[in-house]
Amino acid sequence: MVPYSRELPELLDELKTDADAGLTDVQAEERIQKYGENKLQEKKKKTNLQRFAEQFKDVMIVILLAAAAVSFAIAVHEGDGGEFFEPVLILAIVVANAVMGMLQEGKAEKAMDALKSLSAPHAKVMRNGKEELLEASRLVPGDIIRLEAGDFVPADARLIRSSSLKSEESALTGESVAAEKDAGVLVEEKAALGDRVNMVYSGCSITYGTGTAVVTATGMDTEMGKIADLLEGAEDAQTPLQKKLAQLGKYLGILALAACAVIFVVGLADGIAPLEIFMTAVSLAVSAIPEGLPAIVTIVLSIGVQRMVKKNAIIRRLPAVETLGSASVICSDKTGTLTQNRMTLVKAYVDGEEGTEDIGAGNSEKVRELLKLGTLCSDGSIQIREDGQVQHIGDPTETSIILAACQNGMEKDELNSEYTRLGELPFDSDRKLMTTINEMNGRYTVIVKGACDMLFSRCVSGNVDKAREENEKMSRQALRVIAIAVKEIEEIPEELNSSELENGLTFKGLVGMIDPPRPEAKEAVSVCRKAGIRPVMITGDHVVTASAIAKELGILREGDQAVTGAELDEMGEKEFAEKVEHISVYARVSPENKIRIVRAWQAKGQIVSMTGDGVNDAPALKAADIGCAMGITGTDVAKGAADMTLTDDNFATIVDAVKEGRGIYANIKKVVGFLLGTNIGEVLTVFCAMILWRQTPLLSMQLLWINLVTDGLPAVALGMEAVEEGIMDQKPRPKDEGIFARGFGLRIALQGLMFGLLSLIAFRIGIQVTGEAAGGQTMAFMVLALSQVVQAFNMRSNRSLFKTGFFTNRKLNMAALISVLLVAAVVFTPAAEAFGLIILPVWMYLAALGLILVPLLVMECSKAFGLIKHGE
Ligand code: ATP
Repeated sequence: MVPYSRELPELLDELKTDADAGLTDVQAEERIQKYGENKLQEKKKKTNLQRFAEQFKDVMIVILLAAAAVSFAIAVHEGDGGEFFEPVLILAIVVANAVMGMLQEGKAEKAMDALKSLSAPHAKVMRNGKEELLEASRLVPGDIIRLEAGDFVPADARLIRSSSLKSEESALTGESVAAEKDAGVLVEEKAALGDRVNMVYSGCSITYGTGTAVVTATGMDTEMGKIADLLEGAEDAQTPLQKKLAQLGKYLGILALAACAVIFVVGLADGIAPLEIFMTAVSLAVSAIPEGLPAIVTIVLSIGVQRMVKKNAIIRRLPAVETLGSASVICSDKTGTLTQNRMTLVKAYVDGEEGTEDIGAGNSEKVRELLKLGTLCSDGSIQIREDGQVQHIGDPTETSIILAACQNGMEKDELNSEYTRLGELPFDSDRKLMTTINEMNGRYTVIVKGACDMLFSRCVSGNVDKAREENEKMSRQALRVIAIAVKEIEEIPEELNSSELENGLTFKGLVGMIDPPRPEAKEAVSVCRKAGIRPVMITGDHVVTASAIAKELGILREGDQAVTGAELDEMGEKEFAEKVEHISVYARVSPENKIRIVRAWQAKGQIVSMTGDGVNDAPALKAADIGCAMGITGTDVAKGAADMTLTDDNFATIVDAVKEGRGIYANIKKVVGFLLGTNIGEVLTVFCAMILWRQTPLLSMQLLWINLVTDGLPAVALGMEAVEEGIMDQKPRPKDEGIFARGFGLRIALQGLMFGLLSLIAFRIGIQVTGEAAGGQTMAFMVLALSQVVQAFNMRSNRSLFKTGFFTNRKLNMAALISVLLVAAVVFTPAAEAFGLIILPVWMYLAALGLILVPLLVMECSKAFGLIKHGE
């Protein structure tokens, strides 16, 4: 029989579980063996062999294999053993490239998997009588789980207790309005999924209230599992830049093929041996296709993303990395992000008194009464450890009140058992209130605590005007003020709702707490300013409190405005559009206000980052260009909607992530510039020599060696450059600025031209001196291969290498050394003959060295004369 139409005790019996203590570890272990992990089946991972095989889909590899086959066939036909060297070498290079590709892909995938597991969902579970936070995949049928607003439901479960619980089930039912849930109802067997009010379903989210439930199905047995096709691995994880580069690769490929055709025809017409000209044409094609580019970009991205994890930012969607670099407005919550969220109660005001009283160990009777009410209307708890340290568990706003009560000799547990809680309306950021009903001295007392402006208007007795004054005073000292009010009721209504319970109240008093700014926040704000990024504070707190802190942090400056959510609601679109650039603080905002703020900035062409933690923040996080969820206080729903999670909930982390994002983009740009510049150089060398002199300046194997062996490592190392100093002194990159903008494309072309020229000069010198083509080719080979290594150093920064330091990127030093050795391995060893290289007089090597260093000279001069500017 289905779990929703069974009597609860019967169901718990069958699942052999205890509604309070949950399962034991042993039971859980047995069940996980029986039912498996609580996961939807994912598409099978690619094996290494599959990945290896996929490398051969690449056009370039196919061209090379064809070339190897032709060269092999001719060698067989001519029966000359020595001729086998070429096809074997091509094959070896192809296989080595495929292995590299396979390993790199595997590494990038692993990095992304590690990221995914960092953001794997968790569940609050009762095990061995204690509440634990477990990975949702560890859940088994019979587990008792706790749910609250903002959680994703981790498995199908029957409710045991519920309080104003609502669940959004659109993924299963298509209905986007949250369904009300009730543990006390029995549902008939035939009921449709949407009507099963005593059940919650895996993959749906809790939008309101709290509940406890027993897991009835996990993994593929859940309703979601039944309808889910095998989950596609990652969604489209390619960034816009990756897509553009792939496209560029295709165009260049077509261009290269055209150039090959020209060369092939010209060469044949000129009587060059068909095999030689065929192989040259093929190598040229291989040189022109920037085949390493997409792979290297992926590697740079995934390394960057790992670097970000170490700095507390988990990227959930790869394209966000690119967007981060051009963020121009950062909208941030206040509490916990800009401040420490370590609330300490410092003042209390009791209705009817002259002024406030400082909080301490021996407060007056009236203040103690106020603290008692505040504590009864709170959910958190504190534990005083042996060393005297206080551990706060739960919402710091609440634990600060609980601590103050405790200092006055009132323990929360004792208060709770003396004044039993009979009902509650949980806190939410829209109402900004929380309510409990407690039995006090034989009567039902409704206690409401919350934001002053929300509560004052609901009070019918008490001196609210005086309270407003006191609230202003405390707020100006940057205190968060919470108001407390009560009323007595005759009976507990069947359905608890705000309009009934939170009206007609008697005002009791105020408590004020400090929440000091995070020490690093001020510095981060000033970094933002320098980087052309506008910081904006968005908070649920009072406007005066918020402004006081914003001023201290440098967010609210002379001439800036602070507005409340209510004022924002009154502003028309046009008025808001005019004002948005002047508003630095939004106070008492509702989550809906956040979307409006995002959209208004976006309409001004800005790239907006927005933080959020609650379930209602999800739409704003989605609307923002970079949604940042809070790792500690954030709900599952907020994390699910965000592009990035801050594991330390810290504003400075966003700024750091932007810095990393800029660094990653800059590195990708360096790699693209390096690879394309050198590719252009190779193509020009061969093309011009063929057209001008009907000679091949580089043999196919030499070209392949340069292109596939010696320039790969420096490119990867270049992509790992540390984030350049001063990168946060530049303005953000405009939204739709392409990678080749600001003359970068032209510069790449000119640099390519330089490599071409140098190689051609080397070629001519070699021929002139030695009188044979092999001499020219040896010179051209050395100059082309090694000037590229020099170029990798040039590309490290737009600043002079004398400023950056020549050898400060250790990975590049290693890569360069290996490349030089790989060149030497074919120039100075017996392998030279097979590569068509010859030994030259010593002075010619020196001449080659001179040419190799020319790019350094040219680039340093361009940097010195401002042709290449820092920050472009
Ligand atoms: P942020 O700056 O991150 O938006 P916030 O804590 O100010 O944080 P909310 O959590 O939405 O924003 O709180 C809004 C207001 O609600 C607070 O200023 C406070 O007056 C009140 N409030 C916060 N927590 C509670 C609570 N647990 N019970 C009652 N009222 C609360």
